[in-house]
Amino acid sequence: MRYKDLVKKNSDWVKEKVDSDRDYFEKLSSGQKPPFLYIGCSDSRMPIDTFTKSEPGNFFIHRNIANQVFSNDMNLLSVIEYAVESLEVEHIIVSGHYECGGIKSAYKNEGCTDLTGNWLMPIKKLIIQNREELEKIENLDDRLDRITELNVLEQLMHVFKIPFVKNKIVSGKYPKIHGWILDIRNGKIKEIEYPLEKWKKDGIIPLNYEV
Ligand SMILES: [Zn+2]
Repeated sequence: MRYKDLVKKNSDWVKEKVDSDRDYFEKLSSGQKPPFLYIGCSDSRMPIDTFTKSEPGNFFIHRNIANQVFSNDMNLLSVIEYAVESLEVEHIIVSGHYECGGIKSAYKNEGCTDLTGNWLMPIKKLIIQNREELEKIENLDDRLDRITELNVLEQLMHVFKIPFVKNKIVSGKYPKIHGWILDIRNGKIKEIEYPLEKWKKDGIIPLNYEV
């Protein structure tokens, strides 16, 4: 798509919306109450609204390379805090995707000295921590897919460990937390199960959390 197509497409979209509902933008501008907070990868092929056939207003969104959740990322933390405390989202979704450039780069250990290389350092550590399991997977694509899944599990754990998320769960008013992989090869969402009871036993998830 060319740059000048963007503005043209926008006016087409506005016309389409107003034709089907003349108050569409009045309603849209009156406020937001999204049910979902989505934390995903910045990849251009991952527009969550398109994948879920959603209209504007459903997703509060944070995206970064390889969907990382760091406890010192003020940008992400403020997004989660606002979503949980003010918007009171019902669900938090952490989503990775197969064929993720960030995962591939971390696996190949590329760009170690630049900013992206630094950003991906925790995935490189994750790969080392899980080397035994990963080495048993012979096919490279399957191995990268497994790293993508391990990365989502790791980031889910980080979300559960954020103090104000934890407090919210303890108080009983909490969002449900989900892990997803967007399978770019067929367009489907894959829900990732996490070991709930083990994480409760390990103190990662408060005991009163229910799926
Ligand atoms: Zn990605």
